[in-house]
Amino acid sequence: MTLLQKRIAAAIRANGPMPVSLYMLMCLHDPQFGYYATRPRFNRDFTTAPETSQVFGELLGLWAADVWRAMGSPPTLQLIELGPGRAVMMADMLRAARAVPGFADALQINLVEASPVLRGEQRQRLAGWPVRWLDDLRDAPAGATLIIANEYLDCMNIHQAVRDENGWRERQVGLAVDERLRFGLGPPVALPEDVKPTGDQAEWAPALEALVVAVAERFAANDGRALFIDYGPDNGAPIDTLRAYHEGNQVDPLNAPGECDLTADVDFSRLKQLASEAGLLALGPVEQGDLLMRLGARERFAALAAASPAREAELNAALDRLVARDQMGARFKAICLSPPGAPAPAGF
Ligand code: SAH
Repeated sequence: MTLLQKRIAAAIRANGPMPVSLYMLMCLHDPQFGYYATRPRFNRDFTTAPETSQVFGELLGLWAADVWRAMGSPPTLQLIELGPGRAVMMADMLRAARAVPGFADALQINLVEASPVLRGEQRQRLAGWPVRWLDDLRDAPAGATLIIANEYLDCMNIHQAVRDENGWRERQVGLAVDERLRFGLGPPVALPEDVKPTGDQAEWAPALEALVVAVAERFAANDGRALFIDYGPDNGAPIDTLRAYHEGNQVDPLNAPGECDLTADVDFSRLKQLASEAGLLALGPVEQGDLLMRLGARERFAALAAASPAREAELNAALDRLVARDQMGARFKAICLSPPGAPAPAGF
């Protein structure tokens, strides 16, 4: 039994079963035993796009420079990354940014990061750049803004509900007689108004709405763009997508709480809907494969292969992993939010 499991079991004994959302929040963010607070081996549990190839971050760095120009090349750009992980994407973006006159000098880097372990790694990897760490997007300084986030929305804690003869009931985590954690259903509840069920199931992340509101408030006062890349279904809302990963394998989410990465699919249709309701322009989602190809992925990989022919097979495999429809290419999608009337950025 993990230490966090003991803590969760004690909380359930005292308060009764907890919603899946609270379980997920505790597993990821418990300040003492949570996944993000304790992961010395972070990123052996999964490999993200920036860690697959430097080309991912480099293309986004050039994309960012293009967006900056479209915003009129402001002398200062608040570049805000949500959930930067090991800061691999930011480091690759910044290396590419140096090639664009004036762009790198305009950058103020803001990292919204919950994990003290990862903040340490980010500090090392980005040494020499003007970086500040924030607990909340809303704490970033005013000014022209570019928000980026890769695999951040999938960490947002989700609620799940199931409809039976009693109506909608929230999925909870409780204790079995042998003290092991198990799923169950709570008393009847009402679904939030903006949540669309699929059949007799529903799943939603309340934090998505708070995030959209924060972005809309920022873009009401400052010019800006926000790019979110993540995975989620093509159409409609995700259901039953809580998953746990440990050392590259999918495992039972109730096993070893705090030691596994927990994630859920992103509801892009709800994100788009919330963004429009908040008065933002929402472009996409476009598939990651399409976006990267439009930004020149094939050419960039070919240039790298020409420079180091011994790496050709490895580079082809990385390109494939990022863009092929049966790998990350179609399941991962990008959405871009901006103030109404902003020109469409490259790739959208
Ligand atoms: N973007 C990186 C890492 C993705 S993992 C990559 O693509 O490789 C998710 C990241 O989000 C981690 O850095 C995690 O610590 C951070 N994170 C998750 N929830 C957060 C929250 N509520 N506030 C701030 N950071 C959070």
